[in-house]
Amino acid sequence: MTFPGRQLSLFRHAPVADDGGPRRGGRVSSAGDAASDVGRYAPPAAGAAADASGLALAPLGAGGGLWSEREMAAWAPPENLTVSRHAELHRMLAHGQSAAPGPWRNTPYYTVEIMDAFTDPLVEKITIMASVQSSKTESVYNMLHYAICQDPAGALIVMPTLITLRRVNKRILTMIKDSPATASHLTGNLDDITRQQIQLDNMSLYFATAGSSSDLRNIEVRYVHLDETDEYEAGIGDQGSPIEMAEARTTTFWNRKIIHSCTPTTEDGYIAIEYNRSDRRKYFVPCPYCRGYQQLSFWRVKHAGCELGKWPKDKRDPDYIRQQRVARYECEYCGAEIDDRDKRWMLRFGTWVPELRVEGSDTAVYPIERDGSCPIPRPRPSHVGYNWSALYSPWRNFSEVAAKFFETKDDPEKYQTFVNLWLGEPWKDVARKRETAEILALKTDRPQLIVPASTIALTAGIDNQADGKWIVIRAWERDLTSHLVRNGFVETWEELEQWIFHDVYPLEDSDIVLPIWRAAIDIGGTRLEDEDETMTEQVYTWLRGPGRGVFGVRGSPKQIGGGKKMRLSVIDKMPGKGGKPIPGGLKLWLIDTAMMKNAVSARIEAGKFHLHADVDQTYARHITAEAKERNRQGKMAWAVQNRRPNHQWDAEIYAAAMADPECLGGVFVLPDPVRTQSAGGAPAAQNRQQKQQQQRGRRW
Ligand SMILES: [Zn+2]
Repeated sequence: MTFPGRQLSLFRHAPVADDGGPRRGGRVSSAGDAASDVGRYAPPAAGAAADASGLALAPLGAGGGLWSEREMAAWAPPENLTVSRHAELHRMLAHGQSAAPGPWRNTPYYTVEIMDAFTDPLVEKITIMASVQSSKTESVYNMLHYAICQDPAGALIVMPTLITLRRVNKRILTMIKDSPATASHLTGNLDDITRQQIQLDNMSLYFATAGSSSDLRNIEVRYVHLDETDEYEAGIGDQGSPIEMAEARTTTFWNRKIIHSCTPTTEDGYIAIEYNRSDRRKYFVPCPYCRGYQQLSFWRVKHAGCELGKWPKDKRDPDYIRQQRVARYECEYCGAEIDDRDKRWMLRFGTWVPELRVEGSDTAVYPIERDGSCPIPRPRPSHVGYNWSALYSPWRNFSEVAAKFFETKDDPEKYQTFVNLWLGEPWKDVARKRETAEILALKTDRPQLIVPASTIALTAGIDNQADGKWIVIRAWERDLTSHLVRNGFVETWEELEQWIFHDVYPLEDSDIVLPIWRAAIDIGGTRLEDEDETMTEQVYTWLRGPGRGVFGVRGSPKQIGGGKKMRLSVIDKMPGKGGKPIPGGLKLWLIDTAMMKNAVSARIEAGKFHLHADVDQTYARHITAEAKERNRQGKMAWAVQNRRPNHQWDAEIYAAAMADPECLGGVFVLPDPVRTQSAGGAPAAQNRQQKQQQQRGRRW
């Protein structure tokens, strides 16, 4: 675990003693063995500066030696400092550039280890995924600052656009000018400072936009900072992603450092992908009351004096929350109400813990005990990743975060911004693309045609095509957990009627059988003026005859309005121009298919959507045929992938609509499981209808 520091410099400073004992993941461990390294913390060394400079040895050259001072300065090995120590000693923040001008202070204590990873010889890649305004960019600039002073080599800074690039170019130049330690490396030649490059006397900083391949060519650098990565373009021609291109500039350096930093966007964003590849560290802080180490979670923020998770309805006004500072953090161990004033202390004694992935499990495990000790020796990976939320920021209080939550929570787009910028978490779009294998993994041992015992009703969805009908039959529990009971394709109306009117489905482990409670068939096309008039007419005719009792449904191209997924409408004439009037009209459900698909997709994600044992590849292909994509207007919308058939997915949507509370109360109106003992049993209405059918004969 210990790393020999560089050789004691003869010319400049003695190595700074790591005075406070071992620091987690930090560079130097003076105390030695790995076991004791674990679980302790060291407050950042505040008083070490004096020791360091006090120990400086007299340069050999000063006594009339071989070299001039200038030569010695050029040949001096790097000062043996960590980035965080170096920043406190040498980095100056200018007025107007920082909330706290003056010398840099490591008060966002969580940045200490991140910065020090830069001087860890084993670390090659540092990924920083965090909330806004929480010192992540300043931490990276401290690394550059260190590089200029201690370990000069070419550096490349990549930004998503020209505008952001100019801003950053200015900011870095200001940083260099503001600290005497870096300002001394400016050449004084005006030509050495351009928008593409800052040429210092010992190294060059290159600036490039991620969109331009010419910016990234012909540069060889040891340091790369990829900033705001999630705003980058997807790729440049056939040359791979801008990230790969930038990283390729470093291949000739064995000791390269690649730093990614960004607030997250979605799980498919560059930064979330990079973070997932890293060792995924989270910051654990001790409770000021019981010393229990925990990761701060927004869901443990509460109103002072109230129960966790029960924020009073009349106290959610964001202005009130901000002004009165009513938010507190509840300790997960002792339940104490932690105040903003305790945060500084908590951060100071916090520790970064990498995630352990347990084989075959998706849940994150952190090898840290309540007392902050770590039972498992920490691995030393070459790619470290850090993630934290605004709750950790010394510049934010709990009430600001809570107020922001109440401001955004009812608007999905704003809420996503809150999750990204404040919680520092990637947005999980439940409607992500799925693989057929993921769908097949939802299969249970239950054979088809068998209804799970917990079922209260069966619904059917039918997708009507020119060559036949795709049907799914689904069993529902009261909480909208559902189980596929039967699915397939039939060619004729008679077969369809057999499935939904005559066949009954046995309840698991009993002699009870269930009929279909509700069924829905699409009337063809999303627009009534589609070319499929004859098909629509067929469905109308069927619905008014043998299919009576089945609902017609139509996907609505527009939103239904009022946040509703569906609305009942009445059709009074047959389709087409001059269509025959329909006496008494025909009831039809207009369905906002996008919302209904979101709902079903969320249930799949939540593990509330089950399949029978006999589901095949065709079903899985239909279910995965659509995915949510950003359309030309920049909105997320459902789109069919590669013109794949999606019939059973549509049928599932109709079956789900029939069970939905918005559909005349859905399964919620059923007081008790709809069950009947009789072998050919069907609810009274359908019995009556069957009788009528038999009396009328098959006229249609
Ligand atoms: Zn506690």
